[in-house]
Amino acid sequence: MTIQQTLRIDGHVLLPGDEGYDHHRKALNPALDPRPAVVVRAAGAADVRRAVLAARTHGLPFAVQATGHGTHVAHDGALLLNTGAMTSVVVDPDRRVARVGPGARWRDVLAAAAPFGLAPLSGSSPDVGVTGYTLGGGLGWLARAHGLAADSVLRAQVVTADGTPRTVSADRDPDLFWALCGGGGSFGVVTALEFRLYPVTRVYAGALTFGRDRAAETLAYYRRWIERVPDALSTAVLLTRDGSLVVKAMYAGDADRGRALLEPLRRVAGPVVDDGMRVVDFARAAMGGTFARTFDQVRALDDDLVAALVDEPDTTVEIRHWGGRIAAGSGAAAHRDAPLSVVLDSVASPRTAAALSRCGLGSGFLNFLHDPARLPSAFTAANWAALRRIKGTYDPENVFAAGLAVPPAALVAA
Ligand SMILES: Cc1cc2nc3c(=O)[nH]c(=O)nc-3n(C[C@H](O)[C@H](O)[C@H](O)COP(=O)(O)OP(=O)(O)OC[C@H]3O[C@@H](n4cnc5c(N)ncnc54)[C@H](O)[C@@H]3O)c2cc1C
Repeated sequence: MTIQQTLRIDGHVLLPGDEGYDHHRKALNPALDPRPAVVVRAAGAADVRRAVLAARTHGLPFAVQATGHGTHVAHDGALLLNTGAMTSVVVDPDRRVARVGPGARWRDVLAAAAPFGLAPLSGSSPDVGVTGYTLGGGLGWLARAHGLAADSVLRAQVVTADGTPRTVSADRDPDLFWALCGGGGSFGVVTALEFRLYPVTRVYAGALTFGRDRAAETLAYYRRWIERVPDALSTAVLLTRDGSLVVKAMYAGDADRGRALLEPLRRVAGPVVDDGMRVVDFARAAMGGTFARTFDQVRALDDDLVAALVDEPDTTVEIRHWGGRIAAGSGAAAHRDAPLSVVLDSVASPRTAAALSRCGLGSGFLNFLHDPARLPSAFTAANWAALRRIKGTYDPENVFAAGLAVPPAALVAA
């Protein structure tokens, strides 16, 4: 039987040479030139199930993609399931819940939730896919106030490696639900996701730009100042390639209060070159992130690390405040107790690398990782062991092995 005969789907099956194959095989990263054996454009959950089973029948590696924003490995020779057409978004304003298809992007949810005065825990780009972002943890500008996106999932519909459609939640298959919400896309293929929305409409957000001459003092002050700020305020300090010090901030509350909270930091940083703080709709608060070539969560920002970061040449450095409701969450994602993360858009100099290895947790955050070899660093040792165990239960043959995939714990011989 050919793969088209096995599939018999409502969506589209695209083979090399077919119209649309070249468009739908692509990832966002232009350095990747993936050559899947077949691309399946799913129209619904039944197609997802048929695609999983067809990959197994034909002995093809299986991979799933919604937008290609988080695809870091070329899925050559695979059956690539594309969920980009499954974009439904339904908002229940009374329960403050959204239910979305696996192809929905944050832009779709922001637009559907805003008329009800609600917002999702989206991140820096509205083009990112809801499902990949959420399964990978989901660190947005409301995370200190309301937690990681993965912690706000209420229910998921998922097709597991044996082709079984399941509805999972804290009450149904709780171990699979826990692994999925923060452990990434290698436990099953999500066909629908239900998650909480929050009553956030207008926020005080943007960036303050300063000269860089007081960078060391500002960072030394920042590490103490963050201990006193409320969870509704999220900030990051950037030392940019063009020689500026930038404070990015979002306060989910009254602008006067937000301004007053930022004032002490502003005084230490020196004269403001540009004040880009505004009251804006949450959906329009463009808070783009820094490309993470180096990423670590750090326990502390000691004087050596501050000095190394200030002297880091030809780099943008971003120091971001975590904590708040992120620390309160118990999901699989991230190292919850780290108060800060450090991102560099380049490889760290030996001095910074040494300082990071002293202050840092050696950790990556799943959504900011590109290298599958570093995957264990995205989790605590206990969570990594639990994820591998759960993977061994639900996908012992490692059908979902593509990309940043948790390998199953070896089965214990009976
Ligand atoms: C411009 C940009 C800004 C970003 N900003 C943030 C941010 O602020 N915060 C943050 O936390 N992350 C951020 N990210 C990272 C982003 O969340 C991840 O790259 C995420 O994986 C993207 O998901 P996607 O569905 O768009 O990508 P895709 O490439 O389509 O999918 C990525 C992975 O998600 C999994 N996946 C997707 N769909 C399914 C499904 N239906 N079932 C099971 N697994 C699935 C698969 O493992 C897949 O390999 C950003 C990325 C970019 C490019």
